[in-house]
Amino acid sequence: MVMQVCDLPIPKKIRLAIKNDEIQRTIIKVNGTNIGGEHVAVMAGPCSVESEEQMIQAARAVKDAGAQILRGGAFKPRTLPYSFQGLGEEGLELLALARKETGLPIITEVMSTEDVDLVEGYADILQIGARNMQNFSLLKKVGRASKPVMLKRGMSATFNEWLGCAEYILSEGNPDVILCERGIRTFEQITRNTLDISAAPIIHQISHLPIIIDPSHGTGTRSLVEPMAKAAIAAGADGVMIEVHPNPEEALCDGAQSLSPEEFKYVMNGLKPIIKAVNRRL
Ligand code: PEP
Ligand code: MN
Repeated sequence: MVMQVCDLPIPKKIRLAIKNDEIQRTIIKVNGTNIGGEHVAVMAGPCSVESEEQMIQAARAVKDAGAQILRGGAFKPRTLPYSFQGLGEEGLELLALARKETGLPIITEVMSTEDVDLVEGYADILQIGARNMQNFSLLKKVGRASKPVMLKRGMSATFNEWLGCAEYILSEGNPDVILCERGIRTFEQITRNTLDISAAPIIHQISHLPIIIDPSHGTGTRSLVEPMAKAAIAAGADGVMIEVHPNPEEALCDGAQSLSPEEFKYVMNGLKPIIKAVNRRL
């Protein structure tokens, strides 16, 4: 049976982020890795960059297990000002060092317009976090950057609002936008967020942009990362973002949802048959 291509209501005022006669699928190339298309991209690494030792250990571990992109936050959006705020530029330096050691491209968050030039100087992909999804001046600024941007879904954002934010970046001239579903806030309290796996097929029906799913922030709990990562890939996501820390018990941020290197290896091995089953490759 051939399924109808799209039977969802297409937002009328959104022009660039939706599929059109010119673009059916955007594939973003980052240092030899494709995001979108046949490929399944795995982004992994700690929530925050904490030290050289932590970052290098994490980078080696995620590379050994098969991840293609290294994550790590140097500027951290924290609920309270008393929590670890990230190492800032020193963190960016450590990410660059980890890239040099492993060859993995890096993705890191930029939180404010004034830091975009600095972060762009180090990162291979700029991340816009959930809390900044509708920071329109930041979106315009990264829309003028020369690096791909991964836009996380706001925790109470609808698909149309999220695509509207992608439109801000695209309309400034940056064609390389990746969407990232990271869970939305619902009445549920057992999980940190409710991971909306339907984002994968919905975004693929409406938009040409690649969609990554983040089961770490999406659940907040280590034991739920593996099944939700599998579900994400089975539902057609173009990749997953997973938090991995050399010693999760000691993580300065998001330890409860971070995997140890051994756990990450186990998860990667579990993903392989799913990737094959949906006719994709790592
Ligand atoms: C993160 O990726 O570390 C992060 C802060 O994510 P989010 O913006 O989805 O909360
Ligand atoms: Mn985190």
